[in-house]
Amino acid sequence: MEIKEQLYEGKAKKVFATDDPDLCVVSYKDDATAFNGKKKGTIVGKGVVNNRMSNFMFKMLEENGIHTHYVEELNDRDTVVKKVEIVPLEVIVRNRAAGSFSKKYGVPEGSDLASPILEFDYKSDPLDDPLVNNYHILALGLATQEEIDTIASMALKIDQLMIDFFKKCNVELVDFKLEFGRFHGEIVLADEISPDTCRFWDLDTHEKLDKDRFRRDMGGVEEAYAEMMKRIGLA
Ligand code: 5GP
Repeated sequence: MEIKEQLYEGKAKKVFATDDPDLCVVSYKDDATAFNGKKKGTIVGKGVVNNRMSNFMFKMLEENGIHTHYVEELNDRDTVVKKVEIVPLEVIVRNRAAGSFSKKYGVPEGSDLASPILEFDYKSDPLDDPLVNNYHILALGLATQEEIDTIASMALKIDQLMIDFFKKCNVELVDFKLEFGRFHGEIVLADEISPDTCRFWDLDTHEKLDKDRFRRDMGGVEEAYAEMMKRIGLA
């Protein structure tokens, strides 16, 4: 397989075409942004952590029946993935109150939730990713009802698999964001699963081991990413 021209540069990744029309290569950067790009910085080594951790998680999910875009890890930063059409939704699952949920609904961070929350945001930087419901998604033509149903059931299954996996690493999965893509008519899990896209808290101390350390200027950002690599057995 030959790597060709750059197709896209996002906030945390670059995407390159290949000579196979069904495949592309994602390259993970150390660039970090928060608050829709208003805060910018670098987290040294983040690209390597996110690439390797994401691939590890996607392989675990595949073994448990979740279809993903993952094809092959080329090196520490670059991975071959299926060339999907991204469904323009950020699919968020919350197991404990935190972040924008705590702020919006006035629930103190760390509060228990009676049941998990599945949330859809319309992926749009100019609009700041507004919350959308099933009706909005259909009316705006973002996905079909069948796709919404598939995405919802996959997201909740992924939640359970990830809760169980991270518990064994002494980590609580507080919440996370997923993105899905269309590949030859099938919905597959795409994008990444990493400390950029999940809230990870130490199960005992509740220490934050994710991008909130960058978002909230808490320090120890690189250390938290490195700690997560250790916890999952990749370092
Ligand atoms: P919140 O809505 O509380 O800010 O985020 C909920 C969860 O989804 C967090 O784990 C957060 O990392 C993830 N998340 C939500 N929106 C984004 C986004 O635009 N980019 C990234 N990397 N993660 C997001």
